[in-house]
Amino acid sequence: MSSSSSSSASPRRRLATALVHAGREPAEQFGFVNTPIYRGSTVLYPTADDLANRRSRYSYGRRGTPTSHALESALTELTGAAGVVLTPSGLSAVSVALLSVARAGDHILVADNVYEPARHVCDTVLTRLGVEIDYFDPLIGAAIAARMRPNTRLIYAEAPGSQTFEMCDIPAFVAAAHARGALAAIDNTWATALGFDGHGFGVDLVVEAGTKYLGGHADVNLGFVSAAPSAWKALKDTHGALGLCAAAEDIFLSLRGLRTLALRLERHQESALKVCDWLAGRPEVSRILNPLLPTDPGHALFKRDYAGGCGLFGVVLKPVPKPAVAAFLDALELFGMGYSWGGYESLVIPFDAAPYRTATRWQPEGPTLRFHIGLDDPADLIDDLTQGFARMAAAA
Ligand SMILES: *Cc1c(COP(=O)(O)O)cnc(C)c1O
Repeated sequence: MSSSSSSSASPRRRLATALVHAGREPAEQFGFVNTPIYRGSTVLYPTADDLANRRSRYSYGRRGTPTSHALESALTELTGAAGVVLTPSGLSAVSVALLSVARAGDHILVADNVYEPARHVCDTVLTRLGVEIDYFDPLIGAAIAARMRPNTRLIYAEAPGSQTFEMCDIPAFVAAAHARGALAAIDNTWATALGFDGHGFGVDLVVEAGTKYLGGHADVNLGFVSAAPSAWKALKDTHGALGLCAAAEDIFLSLRGLRTLALRLERHQESALKVCDWLAGRPEVSRILNPLLPTDPGHALFKRDYAGGCGLFGVVLKPVPKPAVAAFLDALELFGMGYSWGGYESLVIPFDAAPYRTATRWQPEGPTLRFHIGLDDPADLIDDLTQGFARMAAAA
């Protein structure tokens, strides 16, 4: 959460309180605690004069409803941004952030560990529009300054990368960008605004897949972008031009998720640490990829810049045949196999980042797995992993 002051005159509230109150206007909803789901395209104007002069609080469903306004204003308060736009998915939040900045002839620096579909937007849509995409080692740190060109318009990063978990030095990226009149953008889905105060560190555009922890129950597709004053007008205009709007029910569920976000993240993180501690002692495990751990190469940056993390981390196994990994995965009863994360349930997937890296090589010493630790009791998860490893050994 940002330490900068919000637009309201009252002092900024502590996090737990802000999560309870942000974006709520019971007096406008007949006293009901929550803003309901407003479904609508048409908004009626009482008189011809009102219509001609566009005199109304809301003009058209795509352009905003009381439901979307409630979530936007809550997220604006929590991120300390100049403004927030909602999008139908996390990926469309990435796209609109990039498109709000990029012009033909621009050069954009992108960390090599970002979410793969974000690379795809860069390599297809942006490249086609005449934008040069240049990938860099996420561990580059302050040396990013040497990669800046006169036409560099943006540095885009994700910390930690949500598959391989390298930490970036975001303040160094912001300093390098701003020194040359460029902007900095990040995908903050892993830490959320609660774990990393992007705008407080000077980041111009912060993207989050609300699909993950904001929704929190594996039943929402939503994204949002928060912008500092430096990037807000272009973001708002581009979002409007592209006609992006999130679904009313997904916005409602995201608002509901927001109320318990801090509690859930705290538990996800605490349980993930317990499982990581146990995994670190297992003979099958070579190393754990999680900046929350003091043993992780990214921990110093995490400690310096972050207030918290979440339940998502990676594991590099010692070399073991593929069928043994499959036997392990198939044996697990409490971990589902599937994409996305951030819900109450625990998940595991095997992954291989090697095929899409271009600036760095991803060469782990064994098979790699990504775990999401849900709200299960971690002791039960550890029991499940124990029996999974036994099946792995039997199949090796
Ligand atoms: C899932 C994810 C996205 C995209 O979110 P969707 O809602 O699935 O489009 C973007 N960035 C990161 C880091 C993600 O994990």
